[in-house]
Amino acid sequence: MNIATASSPGDCVLKDTLAEMTYLEVEAAISRGAIGLWGLGVIEQHGPHLPTATDVYIPSVRLREVKRLLAQQGIEALIIPPFYWGVNHVSSSFPATIKVRPRVMVDLMTDVIKSLADDGLRHLFCLSGHNDRAHNETIFQAVCRGSAESSLQAAFVAEDVMIGRLGVEPGHPHALAFSVPSNAVPSPFLDIHAGDWETSVMLAFNPEVVRHEALHDLAPTNLVIADLQEWRKGHDDARRVTPLGYFGDPAAATAEHGRAWILREAESICQVIARRVQDA
Ligand SMILES: [Zn+2]
Repeated sequence: MNIATASSPGDCVLKDTLAEMTYLEVEAAISRGAIGLWGLGVIEQHGPHLPTATDVYIPSVRLREVKRLLAQQGIEALIIPPFYWGVNHVSSSFPATIKVRPRVMVDLMTDVIKSLADDGLRHLFCLSGHNDRAHNETIFQAVCRGSAESSLQAAFVAEDVMIGRLGVEPGHPHALAFSVPSNAVPSPFLDIHAGDWETSVMLAFNPEVVRHEALHDLAPTNLVIADLQEWRKGHDDARRVTPLGYFGDPAAATAEHGRAWILREAESICQVIARRVQDA
C-alpha cells in the first residue's frame, strides 16, 4: 500500500483538516454523517534533533492516514485542527516546554466539543500526540465532560497500555483502546521519547524540520525500566536521567520504519473507530 498518496514529506499540520474547508463544505460533510477526528499534542522539547511541535506533527500524519483508511470503509471523517497547548509534566524543566493547567485544557476542549455538537457532529474521536500521563488523563476528562454537556459522543482513543495506565475500565463508553503489533527486536533498552520511533516518523513525513546534522552524533541512551520510573517523576529528575532530552536511540531511525509504524498504527485505530461507529 502506498502511504505517500495520503501524506507527503513536509505536510502542514492543517493539511486535510477542517481548517482548509469552507463552512458550507463542513456543513455538508456533517449532514452526510461525517465523524470528527482530533489530535491533541503539546509544544515540548524533543532533544537536539527534533522540533518542539513533534507531538503535533505526528498525530496530524496519523489522522490523515486514519481518515484515508476510514474512507475506504465508507466512513467520512473531518479532521479538527490539532490542539497545541497541552499538559507537560516530565519535560517541564526544559526550555520551550509549554505548561498548561489541566483544568484550562479541559475547559477549552469542552468548548470545542460543544461547538462541534452545535454544528451537528455526533461522533468525535480524540487521539493524543503526547504520552505524559497527566496530558492523557486530561484529554479523557475533557472527552467525558464534553459528552455529558452536549449531544456529541466523544471517545478517547489510545493504546491499550495508556488506557491501562489511566485505570480506565475496558468497554468505557468514552474510551477506545487499540494495540499496535510490534515488530521491534526485543531489547532491555527502552525507546520512549524523541528516540527511534518518533525520529523515524519525523524523517518519513516532516524531514525538513529534523536536524539531520545533530542526529547522527546522538548516542543511544540505553536506559531501562528503572530509569523510566525515575524519568516519569518529571522536571529535574527527568532532566537528570536524560540531560539531552531524548530517551531512546534516535540515530537508529529511518524513514522506512516511520512509514511502516504509522501505517500499522493507523490500521489498528481505523478498525476500532469503524467498529464503534457501526455499533452506534
Ligand atoms: Zn513526542
